[in-house]
Amino acid sequence: MTRHLLTKAEASQPHLNSFITLCHDQAISAARAADEARTRGENSLLLGIPVAHKDAFCTAGIRTTSGSRMLSNFIPPYESTVSRKFKDAGAVCLGKTNMDEFAMGSSNENSFFGAVRNPWDLSRVPGGSSGGSAAAVAAGLVPAATGTDTGGSIRQPAAFCGISGLKPTYGRVSRLGMIAYASSLDQGGPLAHTVEDLALLLKVMAGLDENDSTSADAPVPDYAATLATPLQGLRIGLPREVFSETAHPEAARALQAAIAELEKLGATLVDITLPHTALSVPAYYVIAPAEASTNLSRFDGVRYGHRCDNPTDLEDLYSRTRAEGFGKEVQRRILIGTYALSAGYYDAYYRQAQRIRRLIKNDFVAAFSQVDTILTPVTPGPAFGLGAKTSDPVAMYLEDIYTVPTSLAGLPGLSIPCGFAEGMPIGMQLIGNYFDEARLLNLGHQFQLHTDWHTRRPDVTRITASAN
Ligand code: GLN
Repeated sequence: MTRHLLTKAEASQPHLNSFITLCHDQAISAARAADEARTRGENSLLLGIPVAHKDAFCTAGIRTTSGSRMLSNFIPPYESTVSRKFKDAGAVCLGKTNMDEFAMGSSNENSFFGAVRNPWDLSRVPGGSSGGSAAAVAAGLVPAATGTDTGGSIRQPAAFCGISGLKPTYGRVSRLGMIAYASSLDQGGPLAHTVEDLALLLKVMAGLDENDSTSADAPVPDYAATLATPLQGLRIGLPREVFSETAHPEAARALQAAIAELEKLGATLVDITLPHTALSVPAYYVIAPAEASTNLSRFDGVRYGHRCDNPTDLEDLYSRTRAEGFGKEVQRRILIGTYALSAGYYDAYYRQAQRIRRLIKNDFVAAFSQVDTILTPVTPGPAFGLGAKTSDPVAMYLEDIYTVPTSLAGLPGLSIPCGFAEGMPIGMQLIGNYFDEARLLNLGHQFQLHTDWHTRRPDVTRITASAN
């Protein structure tokens, strides 16, 4: 199976570009070890299951780039906690998936290694920043992959590619060895076809890590055990700010049909309000770049990563290394973030954004006193065309309107396929209370038992042809 998928992934590369690195030798030897373990009668949750990791997770001895020229020669000496846990569970890592540079983006067009394409329509984006992971799963190159989500980077590409993705509660999954973008928002999580698979994957990924002081000391439930709970009496909040907007009509109709399905399954729909929703994108695009500007200051050409040729002095080393190593969007964010944090502007921008963040969090806290979960779209519409938004960063940022509030509040969000618009898959987002992933997974699983959106697949026979 590993060999078959590696061949398929290889064949798809010129079309999808979903991988930055394929790890043939390591994958084959891990698969062999899994076969031997199985012969000995051993078992573990993911024994022999092929997976791929977003190239933001450090993998010992395997190049890890975070989609950047800056790290295009970086071979980590250590393993991220997430990828280590997958190894311990017996998974076979086929490779490292493509991503927006340092996870900054909503379309995967910001990768130093080239854009990823959507397997449903090669002229459209797969979403970002975990676009490589989402495209690889959707195209059947791997059954599951990891992603990271700072403002939507698991949920949005899952929606654009017609698969399921979960951003856990902030702190649920260790960030050790996950290359930082915005540390108060970053969270790793799984992407797969079904919610049932997400339940198994989260079980593997979650838990306290003593080497990550932001990882939460909260028990990890057996998520698979509660998937069958009936939905009777479950209260689902529909924020009126979200549903009163002029949405994409075809996507809105599909979402309404999905909501009706949940009602049929026994859930009660409750009208709620999240009054500060409109402020979430402006607040996020101050806080995330501010944190990024400090996180990325470590890439200075001295310790690791790219270094410019023949620097004349230290100043020249720093500025040329960073000008050459970082792409345009990353540079834009460093500039915005540094500005927002500078003396005189800190109060006007950064502190103000943090105040808004608290208001957004309080909106959710109030809503969760009335409902068990909240339902919204994942994106304003289906996947857009390559190049459609690259010249207008603000238009690109506004794509994140439904995903960033959850991130600012640190809440878990599940994205599952719920229909089609323009022939492309679209998703619904289920937002849970803190550490209430089990309920989200239960809800998503019940929906998937009664619908078949998650079973739809793009026709990729042509792009994986040499494997057949
Ligand atoms: N699109 C958002 C951004 O560019 C979110 C990215 C992410 O979640 N990593 O910041």
